[in-house]
Amino acid sequence: MPCTHINHMSDEDVKSWLNSFDTVMTDCDGVLWVGAEAIQGSPQVINRFRELGKRVFFVTNNSTKHRREYKQKVDTLGFGGDLDEIIGTAYLAASYLEDCGFDKTKKVYVVGSAGITQELDDVGIQYLPIGPDIGVENRDLASLTVDLDPHVHAVIAGMDLHISFTKLLKAASYLSREGSIFIATNTDAQFPMKGKEIVVPGTGSMVAAVETAAGRKPIILGKPNPLMFEIVQKRHPSVKPERTLMIGDRADTDILLGKNCGLQTLMVGTGVHSLEKVKDWETSTDSEEQRLVPDKFADRLGDLLDRIKDL
Ligand SMILES: [Mg+2]
Repeated sequence: MPCTHINHMSDEDVKSWLNSFDTVMTDCDGVLWVGAEAIQGSPQVINRFRELGKRVFFVTNNSTKHRREYKQKVDTLGFGGDLDEIIGTAYLAASYLEDCGFDKTKKVYVVGSAGITQELDDVGIQYLPIGPDIGVENRDLASLTVDLDPHVHAVIAGMDLHISFTKLLKAASYLSREGSIFIATNTDAQFPMKGKEIVVPGTGSMVAAVETAAGRKPIILGKPNPLMFEIVQKRHPSVKPERTLMIGDRADTDILLGKNCGLQTLMVGTGVHSLEKVKDWETSTDSEEQRLVPDKFADRLGDLLDRIKDL
């Protein structure tokens, strides 16, 4: 199916499209805001969706923040919404362990930040301290010994600015335990840094390091894994995939999540992927690339406002 630019839709088409969904799941960075600033028009569209009776969920692969921090951000930038409408991968990691009945006498080793440990606190799961750990340095590896906690039974890999040899060693060692659980929040390779010279490694690079050292693959919680939609459905059973719109700026995470779950999709051009890319994928002979084509495209989310304000 080719992608339809919203500028090429008649008012009638926009109206029937709008009536075809009652739940909106939207990515945050690159759709709603860039850094600390809202993208012009995005807050108004989200609020208009709510006025029109749509339920809005914010879904992000970022694992560094607890939902409370996101709640503060959506409030400050004028998007509104409740805490349970915010789903980040730190929250997903805690929910996943809780849902699979993780033994609360056991502990988690976290290669990540306070966003994850705060979410673990909320569900009463214990973990080892996070932060810098450079326990082994300039040592003969053959004579290396490291204290391991006998109670660790799961490893969560997320974004960790203090990742180190010692942390990889510990994570891999814990993951060699029989039955241990290995979760990764997401595999985004880089943080988008438009117009800057630096390349910021994303969570995917940390996850790859742990995965390689451990010699096993994690359960990846973030988009495009369907878990993110499944948790919305679990919390709100009335949500139907075919009546849900997934909005994102990145095809291989946001749009693919939509495709993987049977959702409708809208891509906006204010973040990672452009309309030119979409055109390339449309004419590609690679079926994987064809799957990245969204149903609809808008240059920015705010462009919808004019089209839906009088409906
Ligand atoms: Mg994004």
